[in-house]
Amino acid sequence: MQTQILKPDESSLSAAKKIIEEGGLVAFPTETVYGLGANAFDGEAVKKIYEVKGRPQDNPLIVHVHKDYDISRIVCDIPDYAKKLAEKYLPGPLTMVFKSKGTVSPVVSCGLDTVGIRVPSHPDAQKFLKTVDLPIAAPSANVSKHVSPVTAEHVYADLNGKIPLILDGGKCTGGIESTVLDCTGNIPCVLRSGLVTREMIAEVAGDCGVFIPKAGEKVRSPGMKYKHYSPNCRTMLFSFAERQKAFEEYKKQRGEGVDAYLMCDGDVAREFNPEFMLFLGNNEDEIAANLYDKLREGEKVATLIIAVAPEKQDGVMTGVMNRLSKACGG
Ligand code: AMP
Ligand code: MG
Repeated sequence: MQTQILKPDESSLSAAKKIIEEGGLVAFPTETVYGLGANAFDGEAVKKIYEVKGRPQDNPLIVHVHKDYDISRIVCDIPDYAKKLAEKYLPGPLTMVFKSKGTVSPVVSCGLDTVGIRVPSHPDAQKFLKTVDLPIAAPSANVSKHVSPVTAEHVYADLNGKIPLILDGGKCTGGIESTVLDCTGNIPCVLRSGLVTREMIAEVAGDCGVFIPKAGEKVRSPGMKYKHYSPNCRTMLFSFAERQKAFEEYKKQRGEGVDAYLMCDGDVAREFNPEFMLFLGNNEDEIAANLYDKLREGEKVATLIIAVAPEKQDGVMTGVMNRLSKACGG
């Protein structure tokens, strides 16, 4: 299969619509990462997503809709706090999990009785969703467990020959996947942290829990148990407090002829000024936006990425640290 990369315009969007209606897959940009979409009503189409990605069969997909889509066609029991959250944060990088009406294919949620709904804010995502006017099941458009894609080139590197079309909307500005929020309880509960932080949710909903799986307990967001976001090279992760140790390790590895790169933010970059660096940025938004791009750049140039965690750990950095420790913690 030939994989085309096209800018979203009238002709490419109508090609995308045709592919989706015929049960095929289209990769499209969002404000977080690129998604790999299929018609959520079509179980056979959704199965192709799992095949193409090599995704475990018990890791449910998020359903993407345009901002005027009536989600009561897909889900029910929408609590008042969720309506308030939608008012404030949608379209945007927040996925809300509700009770399913059973209209989307059971393949989407891997047999769970819930569905995650997302309304992306990226204008090209909205154009694509509006053109197809169908709920689109989509995970990140990468091979399972690899680093999520934030450019059309990243998607192409992973899925060339496996999908017909990538809509190219440039580099994603958000950089890490959406916050996944369980909205089936009396208060919302964060299942996966992201750019819409727990603090932002609590501000609107009054309260917000965070799901921390305990040993033996049923996993509520199955995706969280898998190794994820990993570059194809060796990695090490040091805390901010251990940054001196990280720099010593980097020098030692370099001394032994290893292509080691220090992955770090502005604080660490200024302190050590390493020659071989994967620079993440100076603030939390830059760091989130650059993380996956730098992991992908790193696997091309480095045989070893030595990552130093930023000092700040709350807010958006909660989500960044979750991804960084899965990518580099091992
Ligand atoms: P990805 O598509 O790779 O961004 O992963 C989607 C994430 O959302 C995974 O962590 C899933 O486990 C989670 N997810 C999707 N649907 C549901 C659902 N119905 N209930 C709980 N978590 C979900
Ligand atoms: Mg993913």
